Amino acid sequence: MKGFPKVKVKRSRVHGQGLFAAEDIAEGTPIIEYTGERVTRAEARRRYASRPDAAVQLLAIDARTSIDGAVGGSDARFANHACSPNAQLLVYKKRVFLVAIEPIAKGEEITYDYALEITGDVDAITAMVETVCSCGSPECRGTMLRI
Ligand SMILES: [Zn+2]
Repeated sequence: MKGFPKVKVKRSRVHGQGLFAAEDIAEGTPIIEYTGERVTRAEARRRYASRPDAAVQLLAIDARTSIDGAVGGSDARFANHACSPNAQLLVYKKRVFLVAIEPIAKGEEITYDYALEITGDVDAITAMVETVCSCGSPECRGTMLRI
């Protein structure tokens, strides 16, 4: 089996650090696996409440399980949100992969739509403020939330 394409983490103009293609990536290519500690949804909710970055690092993969990319996770956790992304997350046999949905050129930032949902005790206003999107896309909806 062919390995994943090369990627690297560096400063992003969108937000903090980002994940970038270190070679050309064809549409449909699995880019990287999103790994990290697997926790129950109840534990995920506790982490949402106690960690400001948790909303974008905890990934729900089904009704019972979430992956916390901040705990031993792969570089996939550095991929930023964009409203017109070039990749998307795909859950396959309970594993999560970032897959290219269009050709990505070497040097381009790899992004996906977080489509966040508000969970736990976070009130709507706080959630909106903390998830403001500045991806710069003409289709930017202004938030990383699923709306
Ligand atoms: Zn946006």
